[in-house]
Amino acid sequence: MPDYFFPDYVKQAAHRRVDGRCECTTCGSHAGKRCDTLYWSYHDAYYVPINPKEPPEMHNCKLLCKRCWRQAEASK
Ligand SMILES: [Zn+2]
Ligand SMILES: [Zn+2]
Repeated sequence: MPDYFFPDYVKQAAHRRVDGRCECTTCGSHAGKRCDTLYWSYHDAYYVPINPKEPPEMHNCKLLCKRCWRQAEASK
Protein backbone atom coordinates (compact mmCIF):
# COMPACT_ATOMS: atom_id res chain seq x y z
CA MET A 1 0.00 0.00 0.00
CA PRO A 2 2.08 2.91 -1.28
CA ASP A 3 -0.25 5.55 0.18
CA TYR A 4 0.29 4.48 3.76
CA PHE A 5 2.46 6.85 5.73
CA PHE A 6 2.81 8.05 9.30
CA PRO A 7 2.74 11.74 10.15
CA ASP A 8 5.86 13.09 11.83
CA TYR A 9 4.36 13.37 15.28
CA VAL A 10 3.41 9.69 15.19
CA LYS A 11 6.93 8.70 14.17
CA GLN A 12 8.33 10.84 16.94
CA ALA A 13 6.01 9.30 19.53
CA ALA A 14 6.74 5.78 18.33
CA HIS A 15 10.48 6.47 18.41
CA ARG A 16 10.18 7.69 22.00
CA ARG A 17 8.05 4.71 23.00
CA VAL A 18 10.67 2.18 21.92
CA ASP A 19 13.70 4.30 22.93
CA GLY A 20 14.73 4.55 19.29
CA ARG A 21 15.33 0.83 18.94
CA CYS A 22 14.24 -1.49 16.15
CA GLU A 23 11.22 -3.53 17.23
CA CYS A 24 11.69 -6.41 14.83
CA THR A 25 11.67 -9.84 16.45
CA THR A 26 11.02 -11.95 13.41
CA CYS A 27 13.60 -11.76 10.67
CA GLY A 28 16.43 -14.17 10.12
CA SER A 29 19.47 -12.05 10.90
CA HIS A 30 18.69 -11.99 14.63
CA ALA A 31 16.41 -15.01 14.87
CA GLY A 32 14.35 -15.36 18.01
CA LYS A 33 15.35 -12.11 19.69
CA ARG A 34 14.72 -8.47 19.24
CA CYS A 35 16.91 -6.60 16.78
CA ASP A 36 17.44 -3.49 18.99
CA THR A 37 19.37 -1.47 16.42
CA LEU A 38 19.38 2.07 17.81
CA TYR A 39 18.43 5.24 15.95
CA TRP A 40 19.19 8.45 17.79
CA SER A 41 17.09 10.46 15.39
CA TYR A 42 13.53 9.44 14.58
CA HIS A 43 14.11 10.72 11.04
CA ASP A 44 16.54 7.92 10.31
CA ALA A 45 14.38 5.00 11.36
CA TYR A 46 11.84 3.16 9.25
CA TYR A 47 8.18 2.82 10.18
CA VAL A 48 5.65 0.21 9.16
CA PRO A 49 2.02 -0.40 10.12
CA ILE A 50 1.39 -3.38 12.36
CA ASN A 51 -2.00 -3.71 10.68
CA PRO A 52 -2.22 -1.88 7.32
CA LYS A 53 -6.01 -1.73 7.63
CA GLU A 54 -5.77 0.34 10.80
CA PRO A 55 -5.21 4.12 10.73
CA PRO A 56 -1.63 5.48 10.93
CA GLU A 57 -1.60 6.09 14.66
CA MET A 58 1.05 5.47 17.28
CA HIS A 59 -0.28 2.11 18.49
CA ASN A 60 -0.18 0.85 14.91
CA CYS A 61 3.35 2.07 14.20
CA LYS A 62 6.34 -0.21 14.35
CA LEU A 63 9.89 1.08 14.23
CA LEU A 64 12.34 -0.88 12.12
CA CYS A 65 15.97 -0.44 11.17
CA LYS A 66 16.89 -0.35 7.51
CA ARG A 67 18.00 -3.95 7.42
CA CYS A 68 14.79 -5.28 9.01
CA TRP A 69 12.67 -3.00 6.88
CA ARG A 70 14.31 -4.46 3.77
CA GLN A 71 13.56 -7.96 5.03
CA ALA A 72 9.95 -7.00 5.70
CA GLU A 73 9.58 -5.50 2.24
CA ALA A 74 11.16 -8.54 0.65
CA SER A 75 8.79 -10.94 2.39
CA LYS A 76 5.61 -9.12 1.25
ZN1 LIG B 1 16.30 -4.20 13.00
ZN1 LIG C 1 14.75 -7.93 11.99
